[in-house]
Amino acid sequence: MTVDSQAVTKAVGAVAEGRASGIAVRPDGSVGLVLAVDGIDRATAAKLQADVEAAAKLVAGVTAVRIILTADRDAMPTEPAKPAIRSILAVASGKGGVGKSTVSANLAVALARSGRRVGLLDGDIYGPSVPTLLNKHVRADLIANRIQPVEAFGLKTLSMGMMTEPGKAVIWRGPMAASAFTQLIDLADWGDLDVLVIDMPPGTGDIQLTLAQKVKPNGAVIVSTPQDLALIDADRAISMFAQTDVRVIGIVENMSFHICESCGHESHPFGHGGAEDIAEKLGVPFLGRIPLTASIRAASDAGTPPAAGNGPDAAVFAAIAASVAAALGI
Ligand code: ADP
Repeated sequence: MTVDSQAVTKAVGAVAEGRASGIAVRPDGSVGLVLAVDGIDRATAAKLQADVEAAAKLVAGVTAVRIILTADRDAMPTEPAKPAIRSILAVASGKGGVGKSTVSANLAVALARSGRRVGLLDGDIYGPSVPTLLNKHVRADLIANRIQPVEAFGLKTLSMGMMTEPGKAVIWRGPMAASAFTQLIDLADWGDLDVLVIDMPPGTGDIQLTLAQKVKPNGAVIVSTPQDLALIDADRAISMFAQTDVRVIGIVENMSFHICESCGHESHPFGHGGAEDIAEKLGVPFLGRIPLTASIRAASDAGTPPAAGNGPDAAVFAAIAASVAAALGI
């Protein structure tokens, strides 16, 4: 059905206190508008936004309402927020599928749980997984032209998955991707952080190299499984950080061993001790092993990070987080 755009303007106008502009009704029935929120506090702005959304939705045929919050140009931030971020930790892997995102998210949750102020930035712009891992399938707000990280499990997080329409592909190419990414670090409203954990895009290509150079993390953690092939890639990731003068804090071996849930037998589906050997060979600290468990997989898929629970998995992540915190001096 066609939406009566005058009816939308009237409905919005009745509650928007003169702050709405650019009201547009699209053929699919969605309404977009800009709401100026300068001079009012966050709670009032949020209430106004909710009221405007509800009013627009009452008009027949309106399917969705998208509101962009803006403040006066004068009030827009010009200073990057970065000085408030004490340290940046890159979590990287030479290849995908080794559990890098799982480890990033759980390390971040464990660090937050130990009282640190933590941010988690999902660097996988093409296949963001943090929204799933933390069960935050939401869009980040823009307040006073600043992206607002989303709060979850005691930390603040942002992901490209919170910036784009669900199901729509991001078609940024390398250099654009790297600059969008650094802007998320510099200009999002992270507040004061002890550490910003970055779940780096998998691999050791141009994007990763540019990011390592631009972002200049204070340390990097490499995630690998014990297979030889994964370790060759981990080796490559370590050299990439060495090339950019980023200190490698250590290697984490994920899917290290499996304990049979019925008989307690320990097996090594991907080999044994590989990451520790390579750490020793390259003179990089070994930070610990994370078992391959059905509980980690199920909790991750359900968006309840094991590090936030009370089981043995939480203890594993807490121990690795403690070593990382010590190495970063936070
Ligand atoms: P990457 O970021 O390296 O691509 P993910 O973190 O997305 O990898 O993990 C890939 C898959 O493996 C996910 O389904 C995740 O739940 C699972 N996974 C990761 N680590 C473990 C683990 N230690 N035990 C069981 N499943 C795991």
